[in-house]
Parts: sequence; structure tokens; C-alpha cells
Amino acid sequence: MNGPETSYTDAMSPPRNPGLLLVISGPSGVGKTTIVHRIRERLGGRFSVSATTRPRSEGEVDGVDYLFVSTEQFDAMKQAGEFLEDAEVFGRHAYGTPRMPVAQVLAAGDLIMLDIDVQGAIQVRDRMPAAFMLFILPPSDAELRNRLEARGREDEEAINRRFSEARREIDLATSRVLYDAFITNDNLDRAVDEACRLVTARRSAANIKG
Ligand code: ADP
Ligand code: 5GP
Repeated sequence: MNGPETSYTDAMSPPRNPGLLLVISGPSGVGKTTIVHRIRERLGGRFSVSATTRPRSEGEVDGVDYLFVSTEQFDAMKQAGEFLEDAEVFGRHAYGTPRMPVAQVLAAGDLIMLDIDVQGAIQVRDRMPAAFMLFILPPSDAELRNRLEARGREDEEAINRRFSEARREIDLATSRVLYDAFITNDNLDRAVDEACRLVTARRSAANIKG
């Protein structure tokens, strides 16, 4: 119905908070998961739980860290148009962002955070131009390697693969106009402060524009 009553109700509604889609990318082990958790503790909001065909690591919970699915299930979700973006990461496993939870959180005017790779970020920029995108850099290659090892989640072969992908990921991210800001995760508190400051400024600017 588009009668006068609907228009009157719309005119009386408080200004709608537009929500914010925050993309966080960076090489494996740089601290994205840690930073995203800290942002949520400070600013609230929700994580987007990606679907992936990679095996679950010890300590990860299905439905919380990822939706762990078979290749067949992933392909069916993709065919059904359920992903906002998807990519094959490290040339081995598929990862995808379910579209529906993102739309629901944005419609509620809240913050939704996606921890996705550069290939995924390129697709999100294309489909959701208002997304705010941060790329996290390591203080050095040696420190990135230390963090991958200290986390103790993968075996030596997987650590080597992730480490050798890091340079390619950083080069891809810095070679184009895609990310709104780059943050070096040297000191965790400092990096989280900077991310929160940027996100808060972006949300305020979006609210003023309406
Ligand atoms: P990602 O999600 O980018 O793969 P994680 O958040 O899992 O990375 O972090 C990898 C490891 O580095 C974890 O053990 C984490 O505690 C550690 N870490 C994160 N940020 C810092 C930091 N600024 N200094 C030292 N260690 C860090
Ligand atoms: P990990 O296996 O370490 O959890 O994640 C490996 C990489 O996949 C990280 O760079 C992470 O950002 C990326 N990733 C996780 N979920 C998604 C997703 O849904 N889409 C894309 N494109 N990348 C993802």
C-alpha cells in the first residue's frame, strides 16, 4: 500500500540507522580474528560466519567459527545464490559469506564484520559499495611467521603455505584502490584503538548523511 497513511507513518519514523558492513582482510596470522573480537567487545555488532570446505581445526566450533560444509553442500549454496561473495583461498578450499545474515544485520541498523580475503573484498566492494574496508598489515615478515607458529593451529606445511601467500595477499591489497585504510598490527591495543576510531567515524559520517 502506498496511500497517504503510509507516507505519514514514514515521515514520523525516527531517522533510520543505516548499519555498517565492515570488511577486515590481511594475511593469515596477522591478527584479524583477535582484532574483530576486540572491536565487537567495544562497539558491539555481529560477525559474519562464513561457510568453508576446509576441515575444522581443534578448538573451532561449527556454526560459530565457520559453517563447515562439504564441497557438494558449498556448491549447492553457491548455485542457490546464497553467497554475497565466495573465493577459493590458498588455492585449496572454498570460503563464502552467507548473504542473508548480512542483510538482516544491516536492516537492523547494526554493525556486521566480515573477515575475508582480498578476492572476496573485491566482490563485496562491487556489490556493496558502501562497505568499509580495513586491511591489517604485519609489523614484519618475521613477526608474521612467529604468530602463525605461536598460534599452533596448523602443521608446518600449512604454515609455510599461508606464509608464502602473505606477500601475494599484501601486494594484491596495496596495488589497487580497494581498502579504506591500512592498519599495522604491531601493538594489539593500538591497532584495535585505530580500527574502532575509524569505524566510529565512518558510522557517524553515514548517520549524518542519512
Ligand atoms: P588471523 O585471524 O589474522 O589469522 P589471529 O587473530 O588468529 O590471526 O592471530 C594469530 C596469532 O597472533 C594469535 O596467536 C594471536 O593471539 C596473535 N596476535 C594477534 N595480534 C597480535 C599482536 N599485536 N602482537 C602479538 N601477537 C598477536
Ligand atoms: P582461515 O582458514 O585461516 O580461517 O582463513 C583463511 C583465509 O580465508 C583468511 O584470509 C580469511 O580472511 C579468509 N576467509 C574466511 N572466510 C572467508 C569468506 O567467507 N570469504 C572469503 N573470500 N575469504 C574468507
